[in-house]
Amino acid sequence: MSLDHADIREQICEIGRRIYARGFAAGNDGNISCRLSDEVVLCTPTLICKGFMTPDDLCTVDLSGRQLSGKRPRTSEIFLHLEVYKGDPAVKSVVHCHPPHAVAFAVAHEEIPTGILPEVEVFLGPVPRAPYETPGNDRFAATIRPFVGRANTVVLSNHGTVSWGPTVERAYWNTEILDAYCRILILARQIGRVERLSAEKVNELLDLKQQFGEAPDARRRFGGDLIINPDFGRPDRTPE
Ligand SMILES: [Zn+2]
Repeated sequence: MSLDHADIREQICEIGRRIYARGFAAGNDGNISCRLSDEVVLCTPTLICKGFMTPDDLCTVDLSGRQLSGKRPRTSEIFLHLEVYKGDPAVKSVVHCHPPHAVAFAVAHEEIPTGILPEVEVFLGPVPRAPYETPGNDRFAATIRPFVGRANTVVLSNHGTVSWGPTVERAYWNTEILDAYCRILILARQIGRVERLSAEKVNELLDLKQQFGEAPDARRRFGGDLIINPDFGRPDRTPE
């Protein structure tokens, strides 16, 4: 058993422990991958609890999903990850799991609102929602294609989340930031209202984002509403 890239294998196991400890992946849910080269991706195997993996449990695959190494079969959701790697050469790691507060939005088909918390504006930006498809098939993986290169975190309708970044830790952070945000939104709505930042203040945050060296925000690159889902948490909102 090759333990090449021992440090990255250990990072994937560590992120697996965090995902499981936070309740982002029940049972054997979730999968994590990291691009090792132009041709090779390291990924978690299928049917394993993400909280108890060891470095030699991981597998390698090529960009068509063919398994290259590993004693266990690769995750069946690898094609979702490969879709991101093929669409954006800058992405080094992809995390998919089922964090409950973000998935509540995915189940409700409620767009993730923007213009509320500074960290979310800077680190996530708009979080689009991909349409539902049966997990594991080609159509499922293709649902996120339109968002690769335009976002770093996507909500999958009636299913979960996918986030990506330049390292395993950064890819995971996006999921953690999103779930904490969704939890706060749900709590605030229970209190009764969700106030927005002004457009001027959101623009200041997008300037900061640029200064921090984050990828340009989709709202600046592609246009679109600065404040997404402005009706979320409005006390006078009428149910749809
Ligand atoms: Zn899933």
